Amino acid sequence: MRNKELIEKLKIERALSHDEWLQIFDTWDADDLAFAIETAREIAVDRFGKKIYFRGIVEFTNVCKNDCYYCGIRAGNSECQRYRLDEEDILKCCADGYAHGFRTFVLQGGEDPYYTKDRICVIVRRITEEYPDCAVTMSIGELDRDFYQALYDAGARRYLLRHETRDAAHYALLHPAGMSIESRMRCLKDLKEIGFQTGCGIMVGSPHQTSEHIAEDMMFMTEFKPEMVGLGPFIPHRDTPFRDEPAGSVDLTLLVIALTRILLPDALIPSTTALGTAEAEGRQKGVLAGCNVVMPNLSPLEVRKKYMLYDGKVGTDMSAEAGIRTLRVQMEEIGYEVIVGRGDFNDKNSSIWEGRHR
Ligand code: SAH
Repeated sequence: MRNKELIEKLKIERALSHDEWLQIFDTWDADDLAFAIETAREIAVDRFGKKIYFRGIVEFTNVCKNDCYYCGIRAGNSECQRYRLDEEDILKCCADGYAHGFRTFVLQGGEDPYYTKDRICVIVRRITEEYPDCAVTMSIGELDRDFYQALYDAGARRYLLRHETRDAAHYALLHPAGMSIESRMRCLKDLKEIGFQTGCGIMVGSPHQTSEHIAEDMMFMTEFKPEMVGLGPFIPHRDTPFRDEPAGSVDLTLLVIALTRILLPDALIPSTTALGTAEAEGRQKGVLAGCNVVMPNLSPLEVRKKYMLYDGKVGTDMSAEAGIRTLRVQMEEIGYEVIVGRGDFNDKNSSIWEGRHR
């Protein structure tokens, strides 16, 4: 079968074989990419209209005990100036975000042992009590099942934990000994079982990644059925072991995004900051390839430059307000409207469904 026929088949069957995925990633051309993007966009517009959910992201700590080879805030980077936001700082970010219409707050950080289960749960509970109409999403890495359960009990309902790669050998090339794909999978399984809307995902073009690996990632997502998928190009950071590795390609990232949208029509897929960093119009291209979420940064300006996962990260030199404005304009330029609302997975009651399911 030709690649376009495989994409058609994916749209109908919501699955492909490993060899079919591999063929696409090994042999795709510009025509196939355009076809995948067009198909994905039709599906997204049919499901969500030309509407984009905004999530406010608060990067509340860049302290991390892990040493992932790709990441600028890895423990081993002594050039990184560390910071932590305290409870009041975090609440202030949420208040600003709320005033701008955000109804989802994403708390992201390094794996910072200072934020024990009790400390972080106090913060989550305060946010969910003060903003009962808002969703809290956590993105703080690998934790015990008890810890995840406590976060859920405190009111968090979504969790982002990219699997990074489904291939054990590739995983070991991206992370030091002590981190393993088994542990990552245990976390993702626990999160789903507890009841979180769960996000996985990969960096496209990460060092040592092959078509075979991306095919495995697609097979994994077919089976795992994540509610959210984070996809962005790998971008090197100068103070990491991967400083000299090439960045991932925007086109391949768009292909993976489009195919993920076709595979998982209802998924929440953000057009990522990394995509906007790789190319000025990257986030617009992401939306036109099937993304339906954008995550503006609500972190205080003073700390933004310190949360550098990769070089050149966009938005680190503007206020939350300016960042939101820029993204809103970018979305409007391509004919999309930013909407207020929690935007839960497959939530037929949210405003996005108005007029379609009454
Ligand atoms: N510590 C948390 C959240 C911060 S990292 C966690 O590990 O989940 C969030 C995501 O940023 C990672 O999952 C990774 O996929 C991405 N990331 C890290 N370094 C990157 C780089 N150099 N280029 C592109 N994306 C990167």
